Amino acid sequence: NRQIILKNYITGLPKESDLEFISSTLTLNLEELKQSKAGEDVVVVVKNLYLSCDPYMRGRMRDYHKSYIAPFTLGSVIQGFGVAKVILSNHPDFREGDLVSGITGWEEYSIIPKGSNLTKIKYTDVPLSYFVGVLGMPGFTAYAGFFDVCSPKKGEHVFVSAASGAVGQLVGQFAKSMGCYVVGSAGNKQKIDLLKHKLGFDDAFNYKEEHDLDVALKRYFPDGIDIYFDNVGGDMLDAVLGNMKVHGRIAVCGMIAQSGVQSEQGIKNLYQLVPKRISMKGFLQSDYLHLYSKFLESTINFIKEGKLVYIEDIAEGLENAPSALVGLFHGKNVGKQVVRICDE
Ligand code: NDP
Repeated sequence: NRQIILKNYITGLPKESDLEFISSTLTLNLEELKQSKAGEDVVVVVKNLYLSCDPYMRGRMRDYHKSYIAPFTLGSVIQGFGVAKVILSNHPDFREGDLVSGITGWEEYSIIPKGSNLTKIKYTDVPLSYFVGVLGMPGFTAYAGFFDVCSPKKGEHVFVSAASGAVGQLVGQFAKSMGCYVVGSAGNKQKIDLLKHKLGFDDAFNYKEEHDLDVALKRYFPDGIDIYFDNVGGDMLDAVLGNMKVHGRIAVCGMIAQSGVQSEQGIKNLYQLVPKRISMKGFLQSDYLHLYSKFLESTINFIKEGKLVYIEDIAEGLENAPSALVGLFHGKNVGKQVVRICDE
């Protein structure tokens, strides 16, 4: 069983050398498993097909950092969202051959522990990788974050950072579906072209080419920003705060530009929250699970009707998973970063 294990805990950005690609032996007593009753010991064994690379995984690669999710175990296989095929199960809800999504190991085969919330994939007329992206956690983040946290209204002016990524590309399209004016920022020309010509954004700019983010934002939002969907934090958040409209809303989805350590410099424009009565709310998609079935149904319909464009960046092979994950923090991914381990 080939696996990706955590070699050492990180302090700054993750590096490929923090992870290791190893071969190990997965010992399964098939006879014992087949005979064990539902609810006993091992429940489901899966063959992993797709893995998702997500920025939150950086938090699990640290041991000192207080996060909402526990660190990975040193020397052990790391976990993340994935799509897999059941090869053995004594769980009443899963049968051999079922396609499932949920938390799995970064390895070829995983034994899914009891209590994990695997979900059976019912819609098989879309690519399977969509279940770790547009129809999975990032898609749901965009949906709950935009429609619930941002409380959008038709015609409002929306700004999205990391706009071509897994979450950002969908936020922009959800905002367009509401009749908003939408501008995105991203880190290279290819991404800007996609935003403007494929993903339906009204405009987009490369934040790395701007000397002054305040000037850039004033170019696209001369009358100010109603909604900022923040994926990055840092200098961009600071500049946006100076350009928000009165009663504007900021959904703080993530702060990939910040390492999360306390020594980081503060945001200079934070005071703008007061005179402009801005609402700024951090959120976790997992707090909105009551919206999940509505999200899945409407997003699948959007896809089938050709109303949603979805861009993926698929790395081939488990051995390339560490570089794909590390690449997120350098903007290497164009669209949702996925790793294909094998076909069905
Ligand atoms: P993306 O697909 O957007 O990939 C990350 C992107 O972030 C990179 O491609 C890069 O794009 C950008 N980036 C990387 N480093 C920096 C930096 N230093 N400054 C500015 N931009 C940077 O990732 P996701 O869509 O999966 O995630 C987007 C955000 O949403 C993350 O902050 C993530 O943690 C958060 N998130 C939050 C959830 C929640 O429940 N709150 C759930 C899921 C995600 P570019 O080329 O544009 O710089």
